[in-house]
Amino acid sequence: MMKAELVMIGTELLLGETVDTNAAYLAQELAALGIDLYYKSTVGDNWIRMIEVITQALARSDLVIVSGGLGPTIDDLTREAVAAVANLPLELNTEAMEMIEAYFRQSNRTMSENNRKQAFLPRGARIIPNHWGTAPGLIVHIRDKAIIALPGVPRELKGMFAAYVSPYLESRIEVKQTLISRTLKFAGIGESKLAEMVEDELNCQSNPTVAPYASLGEVKLRITAKAGSRERALEMIHPVERRLIQKLNPYYFGADQETLESVVGTLLRERNETLAVAESCTGGLIANRITDVPGSSDYFERGYITYSNQAKVELLNVNPELIDKYGAVSRDVAAAMAEGAQAGAKTDWSLAVTGIAGPSGGTSEKPVGLVYIAVSGKGNTKTKQFRFNGTRTEIKFLVSQAALNFLRLEIQGVR
Ligand code: ATP
Ligand code: MG
Repeated sequence: MMKAELVMIGTELLLGETVDTNAAYLAQELAALGIDLYYKSTVGDNWIRMIEVITQALARSDLVIVSGGLGPTIDDLTREAVAAVANLPLELNTEAMEMIEAYFRQSNRTMSENNRKQAFLPRGARIIPNHWGTAPGLIVHIRDKAIIALPGVPRELKGMFAAYVSPYLESRIEVKQTLISRTLKFAGIGESKLAEMVEDELNCQSNPTVAPYASLGEVKLRITAKAGSRERALEMIHPVERRLIQKLNPYYFGADQETLESVVGTLLRERNETLAVAESCTGGLIANRITDVPGSSDYFERGYITYSNQAKVELLNVNPELIDKYGAVSRDVAAAMAEGAQAGAKTDWSLAVTGIAGPSGGTSEKPVGLVYIAVSGKGNTKTKQFRFNGTRTEIKFLVSQAALNFLRLEIQGVR
């Protein structure tokens, strides 16, 4: 079994100036190859600390992948550090030199003296061609272990990994194992409550594993299986998935790439039904999300952004007396907005929201985050009251999420 480790080089990573997308990419690629990744370190462009980290990595892992520091400038020290750890001299590698020269010829640029430095590699290193930039990558074998160094520029790293490193690793893995994941998505429930409801599934799993993740307005459960083939991994995931969905119905709305807006769209299309929305505090966000889904013109008729009281009266036919009596942020006005939108657009369904997104405008009776959502369809109108916390942008998103989820449940006939 091959154990891998990542060493990410670059002071800009430690400063938080660059987000380490290379590590995420490499981690996913290694998982797909079925290679276990147990450690990832980040170290600045510092000679002593680089050697320390790479030495430690090599002691506990079979494969060390180093990202960054292969450039031509004096702070690019990866070649030197790898040579020091492997106890090999740096030598001019003619093959690498030719590749660098060829790259400059091809891109019609003149080579600087600095770039010569990039052809000095640890003795015996295998070269990984770089068609996307100047720095060749390298593979150094130390006994039965290997260090692979790739440039930090994401385009170069990805190109080289896909073209050369992945096939190389594949050929070295004895029993090929693959990691496949499926992400189930839930709305209308918090992470801790959800975790509690499926506690037994979370605790006693080793293959497949089930892990919860929370993001704004939704909770996810990722099921990951390791097996000899993709088909076998999916077979292992399937029963766990079914159990989880059964236990967490009706919070479950979709998997992997699915979103609430895509799921609502699918439900409407299946039923040949149409939708209009009337939005106040979300300012068009719900309509925007719905129309992010390709083909939404099949079911989405129109959206009203009725921000002022006057707009609610003029465009949605909301009775001004309701607004006077209960206020624009009220159950009654939400219902009237939904009914007005449905009547005006002549759709099967309508969805309306009215609320206070903040940060100002709240009162003790109607605090920031108070929202009423109404769904009209099948001859009746339902309303729900919500209370959200967060910044203005977060509250707007949470309202759109709750509204789409409410609509989903109504269309599905789950009450
Ligand atoms: P170069 O030949 O360009 O000098 P290099 O191998 O020396 O390449 P770095 O100098 O470490 O690589 O980084 C080059 C660029 O790639 C920088 O813009 C940096 O922000 C970006 N980069 C480096 N490491 C990462 C990473 N782990 N994730 C995403 N971007 C990165
Ligand atoms: Mg550099």
